[in-house]
Amino acid sequence: MIRVAVINLGCPKNQVESEYMLGVLEESRLELVSDPRQAEVVIVNTCSFITAAREEALDTILELARAASHPRIIVAGCLAQQYASELWQELPEAAAFIGPGATGRLPEIINRVLKGERVLDVPGPEMVTGGLPRRIEDGKPFAYLKIAEGCNNRCTYCTIPAIKGPYRSRPLEKVVAEAVFLAARGVKELVLVAQDTTAYGLDCYGEYRLPELLRRLASIDGIEWVRLLYAYPTRITPELIEVMTTVPGVVPYLDLPLQHASEGVLKRMGRPGTGAAGLRAIENLRRAIPEITIRSTFIVGFPGEEEQDFQILLDFLTAARLDWVGAFKFSPEEGTVAAGLPGQVPEEVKEERYQRLMLHQQSITRACNEGWLGREVQVLKEGPEVGRSMRQAPEVDGVVYVKGDPSPAGSMVTVKLTHLYNIYDFLGEIKA
Ligand code: SF4
Repeated sequence: MIRVAVINLGCPKNQVESEYMLGVLEESRLELVSDPRQAEVVIVNTCSFITAAREEALDTILELARAASHPRIIVAGCLAQQYASELWQELPEAAAFIGPGATGRLPEIINRVLKGERVLDVPGPEMVTGGLPRRIEDGKPFAYLKIAEGCNNRCTYCTIPAIKGPYRSRPLEKVVAEAVFLAARGVKELVLVAQDTTAYGLDCYGEYRLPELLRRLASIDGIEWVRLLYAYPTRITPELIEVMTTVPGVVPYLDLPLQHASEGVLKRMGRPGTGAAGLRAIENLRRAIPEITIRSTFIVGFPGEEEQDFQILLDFLTAARLDWVGAFKFSPEEGTVAAGLPGQVPEEVKEERYQRLMLHQQSITRACNEGWLGREVQVLKEGPEVGRSMRQAPEVDGVVYVKGDPSPAGSMVTVKLTHLYNIYDFLGEIKA
């Protein structure tokens, strides 16, 4: 039997695509192996969001090409979607380039590659994947649920709209059906992802349907938590807040990428609002949901960012007291408006500001976490002695270590948070 491995690079949305690939391959009776060195065919599901991601993808492909097992290499994902025609010439090591829209044709593509054919199958970004068989890791208590593809926002630094096309919501019934499928496989937590989850429905239903979708997902048997990532700051509607306050299972957690707080920088980013508007949005959320956990992400070193702009950002973080923060150094991407803007910031200044921001936020995150010590919280176990509370999204926020608790992944236990293990992680004791 032909052995196939899938290497997933990039964001949670790419992870969902890789799980669709695994689902299609599993159904077509190809043997799935987790170690690429054991495989005759390796699919690299690439990210192309920023230069560093593309370099990681090319390094992975070239390393595979040098492997003693000489696997046939299929390049999938955003790098193929964006650069297949150029790479067709420049990367002869790859036997095929496929876009997300070709996932359903993978078995046939693998057959053609094994016969020595080179394959280029990159349908336009108009394709909405989903509705495909999906294979998730056994026993994993959470799963990302992609509710839409593409983006209609026009942030000046971002390549996503060019790679993924306009915003396309997945039909509500298809999203719910996939969630039921995941619940039947033991998933307890659904983590909603898209480029902009809050725009869900406007494109195909003419209205925002995220509140309704959250209600439907939270009512599925077996689903304990529904978590929302990638919310857009100007689309936190009263209906969304109402659902987050009244529907059991919709966790009081919001990932709200703000990117900056200086009005001038936000304007050049093509992003809405100001730092003051961002603070008001956060205050409104906290007034409605006092115990909400808020995560955000910021870009430092954007063209034209002066020291006083950066100081505005630090002051914003002090005032906002966000629970979790991620930060990126600006990366000038080919074809974006921001790459051509004057006032490009030197790399060493970006690095210095990145370090200062993370250090500044660490004391805030520590103080937010210390505020929860002594509290009893629900913890979704990810394995013996470790899990996450509602305040912790998978793979980006901290965890809770529960010494001596053997309950398996997927168990929901009550834990008293006793100590901080470090800035991000907790120690706790099981409560009977
Ligand atoms: S919201 Fe902005 S940063 Fe996010 S995917 Fe859309 S264009 Fe890119």
